Amino acid sequence: MSGGSGTDRVRRFLLEEHPVRGQLVQLEACWAALREHAAYPAPVRDLLGEATAAAVLLASTLKFEGSLTLQMQGDGAVRLLVAQCTHDFRIRAVAHFDAARVAADFAQLAGSGRIMVTVESAGRGAPYQGIVPLAGGSLSECIDSYFATSEQLPTRVRLAADAQRAGGLLVQQLPGVEANAAWERLCGHSASVDAHDLLYAAPEALVQRCASIDDVRLFSGSAVTFECRCSRDRVLGVLRSLGEQEVQQVLHEQGKVTVTCDFCHRPYVFDAIDVAQAFGPPGVPAPDRIN
Ligand SMILES: [Zn+2]
Repeated sequence: MSGGSGTDRVRRFLLEEHPVRGQLVQLEACWAALREHAAYPAPVRDLLGEATAAAVLLASTLKFEGSLTLQMQGDGAVRLLVAQCTHDFRIRAVAHFDAARVAADFAQLAGSGRIMVTVESAGRGAPYQGIVPLAGGSLSECIDSYFATSEQLPTRVRLAADAQRAGGLLVQQLPGVEANAAWERLCGHSASVDAHDLLYAAPEALVQRCASIDDVRLFSGSAVTFECRCSRDRVLGVLRSLGEQEVQQVLHEQGKVTVTCDFCHRPYVFDAIDVAQAFGPPGVPAPDRIN
């Protein structure tokens, strides 16, 4: 096991003698990085963490090259939540919410609406899309019903998040087998893990506890990192599309132009020189930035 810690990795495990597998994820550094420029009330933060862990778990069950997007849309306090994970486990996520309506209860946070899972895979034409209604008492329940309605493989998901960590556990019965006692045991023990252990227990101990009497093998897995695809260049492109007049007006009123990324809330600040450069004649070398 690399790094001596299981955090910021998604790790596969399987029962040695039964056709059952699982994935475990515990995020810490990338969970902090993902929220660096955003301030979420605790219930929204935790839902965002659960959705991020769910996106990682869902991506970990697929063989693809592209990105998986979990989008939650409802009439609750959280109007829109988007969590994205690429095939190589780069994550980003954002939630739009109505601060006055935020409550700890999942039903009030989510309201009625739907969860959409979209998988965009390079060179595979139209993206795959699965939709499940927002229902039940937790995001885990919604994801369970997503699997029940869109996949043949029996799957159970557990999710949790707090200020330090976001994590989850997915167990899945492999194709072509009838329900078996080992699967039932694994489901039962996974369901009994509490949120704190899900986030903080050592992966080896956690997986062994879920496997109970069955032999389990835990793989070292893959690193999960935060990466938003925004950049200063992309934001400059947005400014150019607004037109010089509008941008100069903001500059005149505010002394600078600040554009915040919709996804990670990172602020990009442009001063008068930056704006002049952005709209300057092409090919004229720009003065070096001093700061
Ligand atoms: Zn961004």
